[in-house]
Parts: sequence; structure tokens; C-alpha cells
Amino acid sequence: MQRPDISLEFFPPKSLEASFRLWDTVQNLAPLGPRFVSVTYGAGGTTRELTRDAVKAIHKHSGLRTAAHLTCVNATREETLGIATEFWDAGVKDIVALRGDPPKGQERFTPTDGGFESSPELIAALKDTRDFTVRVGAYPDIHPNAGSMDDDVQFLKRKFEAGADEALTQFFFEAETFFRFRDACEKAGIDKPIVPGIFPVENWKGARRFAEGCGTKIPQWVIDAFEKAERDGHTDLLAKSLCTELCSELIDGGVDKLHFYTLNKPELTRDVCHAIGVTPETRLENVA
Ligand code: FAD
Repeated sequence: MQRPDISLEFFPPKSLEASFRLWDTVQNLAPLGPRFVSVTYGAGGTTRELTRDAVKAIHKHSGLRTAAHLTCVNATREETLGIATEFWDAGVKDIVALRGDPPKGQERFTPTDGGFESSPELIAALKDTRDFTVRVGAYPDIHPNAGSMDDDVQFLKRKFEAGADEALTQFFFEAETFFRFRDACEKAGIDKPIVPGIFPVENWKGARRFAEGCGTKIPQWVIDAFEKAERDGHTDLLAKSLCTELCSELIDGGVDKLHFYTLNKPELTRDVCHAIGVTPETRLENVA
């Protein structure tokens, strides 16, 4: 099996204890040699300062290439580009550019007065401001706001035309879902990298809620398997083997990059990475 390149996603800590947990996760996973790590931006634009501080701290203290997530929610164009420029000046040259979800209680995204109206607008403005590497979201299970897979793919194409360099996908449960989406993108003329987002399920109930919220379909066999594993008390084992199998099918299907949603917990991501051959030793071999 070909060793894939990995990237890792974290969320910003909201307490001192959570800061230690995040740093512990970074230190645990850094030896796997991620090509970059990223820090999310709270839904509704709620963690602007926390994201900024976490991105800068990880970039400065870990030496890892670090990307900041930015959304169009709850900020004017000037504020958003101001934050981006601050990142650039601190040496952070990677942005994950998103429209974002609306704040709690709001059904649909509505632009802020003077704010970006869509992700392609944000992407183009970032590229005009500095030579950022811009990554964007993509949705193999189709985004809840999209009319069809075709509409979703056409919208992703607009994001690449606006200057995006790479897409990171929402998580999904079956390799086939990703391959179908990748084929549709290829057919639409998209030739930029589309990197599968991998979600090692630490907490089944939480994962289910998360999937429902973002439009990820959960196959019945996955639901049955987790419910049985919960009854039998071996959810961890199931999570590890399902996630490893998914990654391994993706790699067999030609995928060479994986983006892990770590939820600031290192164990499962590390174990899955080891199982697919991503270990500190292979990283050193690659460097040599
Ligand atoms: P877009 O791609 O801009 O829009 C989503 C879909 O809606 C499109 O694919 C398209 O089908 C449809 N659509 C939107 N606008 C139009 C239009 N004008 N015309 C036609 N169709 C349209 N959320 C956060 O709040 N913070 C984060 O840090 C964060 N990180 C994420 C990281 C990744 C890798 C992913 C995949 C998602 C992340 N999200 C995050 C969630 C994301 O904000 C939501 O999924 C949001 O609803 C869509 O953001 P987007 O930029 O992908 O949307």
C-alpha cells in the first residue's frame, strides 16, 4: 500500500485545560509528518480570537505548516482580510476559506452588511490580498444547500476558478461515496486535488449528530455495527477497524492524501495512521 500524505484538523481550545489537550494532540501527531495542520473557525464566527491565537501558537511552537480556517460569517470584508493579513505577517500562508454555517438559531446563511456574500468571493479576495494557499470545502454526500450533486460540483468548480488550490471534503462513511464525487468532479473538468476528509469516530452518538447536521449520510450497516459495538463495549475497536478499512480502500483507489478530523484527540488518528503505514519511521525514510 502506498503511504499517503496526511493533514490534521484541530479546533481552537476554549479553556486552559483544552489548550493543554490540543498541545498534547499536536505533539503526539507531529512525528507523523503532516503536510499541514489546520485550526477551525467556530460556527457563526464565534472563535475569531481563539482561532487566531491557536493558529499562531501552533505555527510558532510546533514548526508545522499551519492553516487558519476563515468564514464569511459575522465579519465585514475589511475585518476578514485584516485577519488574513495578520496571519500572513505572522508567517501563516495557508487558509481554509469557507462560507461558513449561519449562527445558531438562523436557518440559512445571510451575508453580513459589508461582508463576503459567498465563498468564491472570499477566495478571490484572499488571492488578491496575498499569495495564500487556499483550500476549500467539498461535499461527497452533497451539501444540504445544494439542489443536486451536479449543482454542488459546479459550485466547487467556481471555487477553483476563483483561485482555490485544493479541496478538503466533509467526512463520509464509504469509499464509493468519495469515488463517485471524484469522478463527477473530473467529468466537470476539475483537475485540482480533492482530499478526502477522514473522521475517526471517538464518540458514536456525537458523530451521528454531527453527520446529521452536515448532511453526511450514514449507511444502515454502519449504524447497526456501532449500535452492536456499543452494546458489546468495543466501539473503539470497531471505530479503528472501520476507519482503517476506509482509508485503505481510498488508497487502493488512487488517493494519495488524507485529511484527518482529529477533534483534538490523538489516539485514534495515530492508530489509524500507523495501520496504513504512516509512522514516524516512514516519515524519516521519506525525508532521507
Ligand atoms: P460553499 O461551498 O460556499 O456552499 C455550500 C454549498 O451550497 C455549495 O456547494 C453549493 O452547492 C451551495 N451554494 C452556496 N452558495 C451558492 C450560490 N450562491 N449558488 C448556488 N449554490 C450555492 N464551518 C465553520 O463554521 N468553521 C470551520 O472552520 C469549518 N471548517 C470546515 C472545514 C471543511 C474541510 C469542511 C468541508 C467544512 C467546514 N465547515 C466549517 C463547515 C462549512 O462552513 C459548512 O459546510 C457551510 O455550510 C458551507 O461552507 P462552504 O464554504 O463549504 O460552502
